[in-house]
Amino acid sequence: MFEPFHQVVTNVSKTILKHEADLGRPVIGVMPAYFPMELIWAAGGYPVQLWGNNLPLEKSDAYLQAYCCSVARSVLELEMRGIAGMVRAYAFTSLCDTLINLREIYRRLFSKPTLELSIPITRTVQARRAYLKSVVERVTDGLQAITATKITPQGLKEASQLYGRVRALQRKLYQIRRETPGLIKNHDFYTVMKAGFFLPAGVYAPLLENLLTDLEKHTAPKAKRPRLLLSGMVFDPLEIYKLMDELDVHIVDDDFANGWRTVAKGDLKAGDLLGGVTGYLFQPAPCCCVYNPDNDRHAYLLNKVKASGADGVLFWYVKFCEPDAFDRPQLMKHLKDQNIATSFVDLELSIANFDAVKTRINAFCEILEG
Ligand code: SF4
Repeated sequence: MFEPFHQVVTNVSKTILKHEADLGRPVIGVMPAYFPMELIWAAGGYPVQLWGNNLPLEKSDAYLQAYCCSVARSVLELEMRGIAGMVRAYAFTSLCDTLINLREIYRRLFSKPTLELSIPITRTVQARRAYLKSVVERVTDGLQAITATKITPQGLKEASQLYGRVRALQRKLYQIRRETPGLIKNHDFYTVMKAGFFLPAGVYAPLLENLLTDLEKHTAPKAKRPRLLLSGMVFDPLEIYKLMDELDVHIVDDDFANGWRTVAKGDLKAGDLLGGVTGYLFQPAPCCCVYNPDNDRHAYLLNKVKASGADGVLFWYVKFCEPDAFDRPQLMKHLKDQNIATSFVDLELSIANFDAVKTRINAFCEILEG
């Protein structure tokens, strides 16, 4: 059932090159997160999402300090080693200082075009719209210049339906995981999610549909160990989920920026692009990187724990993500005040020895069982 997705994540370059040739579209690397893929597709590009990788860092350390997050360092490593040769241009968002500065490094070091969707830090929808007006114009103009293809209302509508469909199917997968813990192994689940970063939406959606149909024929083993909800920016490294499967831990939900926070987004409103992008960036799931005082993370996370039936929350901290680190202490306190057990693991994406993380996860489960 999961083999096509495993094939993709173990052959990322091959997958992208194949689909680039099939589609005849330029590959645009999306530097996470929340850049609407719909805009790139409507402009004739092939978006692939770069959320970091597990390459040993050799060259990027010359430009980024060791205390920058391993997402940024590992993505830069890709370009510096020439592995991302098929990527014609990069689309950034202004999620954090690291990403904003990473774009400047790309502009100085490489000749590939870069775009930035700058996310406003303002209090009201009106102020966000006002700020985003020129940003959206700049981004769409930039994309059209890169691809030499004009974005049309019909193209936007089709792109919106395509990516909206993918996220709806992913939400269905999340629902199945919540309702039948253990039916989908943790490693398989996140492999399915990760394959979506690289496959064209039109190829990924039918694979998801087949998977959802196949899953209906299976029943879940009885859950023996605690159910966890994971929260963090990125769900990598994938290898850890094999250990979670060995430990028989059931992840029933997550609050990852490249997981639920993205999957939860509805269709981008193509008829009102400015309003659509504003809604897309700020709704529905709150994020440590997106300032929105009307969307409180504490209440949101508490509701999510209750709705998922999780026994505890494991915060998944990729070193050294500042926005995530700033939010975590008060989120943990809020949950603890509501008698919800929490713990956290911190790791680098290039981690090779998982023993310490495995011990920590097992210890947290034992506390929950006790
Ligand atoms: S992981 Fe955190 S610090 Fe790194 S790019 Fe993402 S938001 Fe920025």
